[in-house]
Amino acid sequence: METITSINQAKKITEELRHQGKIIGFVPTMGYLHQGHLSLMEKAGKQSDILFISIFVNPLQFGPSEDFKKYPRDLNRDSELAKGAGVDYLFNPPSGDMYGPGFKTTVSVRDLDQVMCGKYRPGHFNGVCTVVLKLFNIIKPHRAYFGQKDYQQLIITKRMVSDLNLDIEIIAGKTVREEDGLAVSSRNVYLERQQRANAPLLYKSLKEAKKIVEKNRDLELARKMAMQMLKDNEFVEKIDYFDLRDAETLEPALDTGTKNDILIAAAIWMGKTRLIDNIIVRGKD
Ligand code: AMP
Repeated sequence: METITSINQAKKITEELRHQGKIIGFVPTMGYLHQGHLSLMEKAGKQSDILFISIFVNPLQFGPSEDFKKYPRDLNRDSELAKGAGVDYLFNPPSGDMYGPGFKTTVSVRDLDQVMCGKYRPGHFNGVCTVVLKLFNIIKPHRAYFGQKDYQQLIITKRMVSDLNLDIEIIAGKTVREEDGLAVSSRNVYLERQQRANAPLLYKSLKEAKKIVEKNRDLELARKMAMQMLKDNEFVEKIDYFDLRDAETLEPALDTGTKNDILIAAAIWMGKTRLIDNIIVRGKD
């Protein structure tokens, strides 16, 4: 595995690889790698000749009061894990090179970035789209892999790729979970012991809502029951949202009709840690 920090060098390498006709698979990450990242790498590795990943804690996607500074970082550990996962190139650019003096451009995917996490993290998805587009231009992958855990990010990235006519296929990877159901996340290390013990409740509440939707299609009841489960837990400090939406458009899901997939997604706070998760109810034709 080769680690690259220079943008120009990364560009040169990927241009050459493309010239040789190699298929490049790409997994963008913010590092502190875990099983969720590794499962995307495994999938990408199987479908490509060259596996590229990036590790870049993107300052542009953090709000002023968010955890950019304390976001967990461990490049040595990440390098070992990436090597083990068959990564060919690890791109780890310095922040000052990605956003040099005078940097002005941001990419915005309108409307989709105003709901769910976008509503509670203003500017977050502009930051995500900007860095993802930059990384796409540097790495020039044929396929890029994103986790369903960050469902809104996946949908917004797909929209950007389609709207801007990028020749990149976006491929989704299933959410990887701990044995007790908690979605694996770099931020889980923030959780104190009792918070960690109670954190699987988020997934349980999503499953409960899904069960009700599948049983009687009562979306309001599903939301109410799930919200109550969360409110009843003393470790849930705040619920940012618990939404049922059309899984493609992210418009609020309607009680009528069973054709479209429904996304059930939530963000909650346990102490100072924000947890997100989601589940899909498949539509019936
Ligand atoms: P991050 O490093 O948190 O920006 O995540 C990098 C990529 O890994 C994103 O596409 C995430 O959606 C994906 N990812 C994070 N956690 C998981 C998980 N538990 N299961 C599957 N993919 C994940």
